Amino acid sequence: MLIPARMSEAEERRWVSVMLDKLAAQESRRLLGDSELTERAERLSAQYFEGRARPVSVRWVTNQNTRWGSCTPAEGSIRLSHRLQGMPEYVVDYVLVHELAHLLVPGHGPRFWRLLEAYPRTERARGYLEGVVAADRLPHLPVARAE
Ligand SMILES: [Zn+2]
Repeated sequence: MLIPARMSEAEERRWVSVMLDKLAAQESRRLLGDSELTERAERLSAQYFEGRARPVSVRWVTNQNTRWGSCTPAEGSIRLSHRLQGMPEYVVDYVLVHELAHLLVPGHGPRFWRLLEAYPRTERARGYLEGVVAADRLPHLPVARAE
């Protein structure tokens, strides 16, 4: 594994964990269709929000490169960036749970994050996504561009 010398120890640890997660994702890669995605969101709502978030449609979109997910609460629609495809399931689930929570609470205030505490891998998933963004910005990392 190529690790740039200027990485701090914390960055290095994060980088290694991102790469391990990537490997795990490749092993268990399976693309969900939009209807499976909607079912999955319904299950997550039942599991973490007592079914209070009611997604009507959940689908992949390819025109969303700066956000991992978005939602329109009035329509109950959730969109996930295709960039999440191939990431570990717990990361995709986190983004789904995040958007489901927005069907209940707009914005990112304390009430929102209290809802997110129900999902046990929130912190890990956020770290993974931050790692992906950081890795995209690092030059000279062939491993980050391999695909
Ligand atoms: Zn949000």
